Amino acid sequence: MPFEAEALSLHLQTIEGPVALAFSYQAEDAAALHLLLRCGADNLEVFTLDTHKLFPETEEYHRELERFFNIPIHAYYPDPDEEKELEARLGEWGMRESPEKRRLCCDIRKVRPLRRILAGKNAWVTGLRAAQSVTRSELKTLEWDEKFGLVKINPLADWSDADLWAYIQKYGIPLSPLYGKGFRSIGCAPCTRAVKEGEDIRAGRWWWENPEHKECGLHIREKL
Ligand code: SF4
Repeated sequence: MPFEAEALSLHLQTIEGPVALAFSYQAEDAAALHLLLRCGADNLEVFTLDTHKLFPETEEYHRELERFFNIPIHAYYPDPDEEKELEARLGEWGMRESPEKRRLCCDIRKVRPLRRILAGKNAWVTGLRAAQSVTRSELKTLEWDEKFGLVKINPLADWSDADLWAYIQKYGIPLSPLYGKGFRSIGCAPCTRAVKEGEDIRAGRWWWENPEHKECGLHIREKL
């Protein structure tokens, strides 16, 4: 295993103040959270962005995870006025009409709430892996997040698929029921589909867009 709890613990010791873990219901997030809890991380806030567009299975999984880890996972929502305006402009499926409209939806439902959450935090931990997609191939374990102005720790950056599934199995970590339905990456219902055998892990996210541009705006990287 390329990066384990001990190494994460060393990184965390260099961080003063509150640390946040962004949970988006991926197997990777569950493994990263498990690692963090094994480190005995204090000042930790585990949060998720509830876009109001999630699958029903995700709500069920949220409760299961809180029971498994015995911690609260705080949900944050879009600003109600911004969401109302967005819905008036895009309707139910407008995010599929163009990359600009899709990015606007992600901005209001994800990026702006995340900015509010990360204000006052000194670091955030993610479950991102370089092997997930072409947009993440240069991911580093430790990065400076220019967009949100804080340190970003990606403890799973170098994990292969085999590393991930071995860790999940070793600790009996529960997975989203969507994995059992062919999903390999979990996102909003209008923008995520199951993938076929041999398809890229993130092929089911915004599948109508160019793979090199398939990010929701949360992850822009600068090396430390
Ligand atoms: S993933 Fe789709 S539904 Fe979710 S915020 Fe982005 S565009 Fe909107």
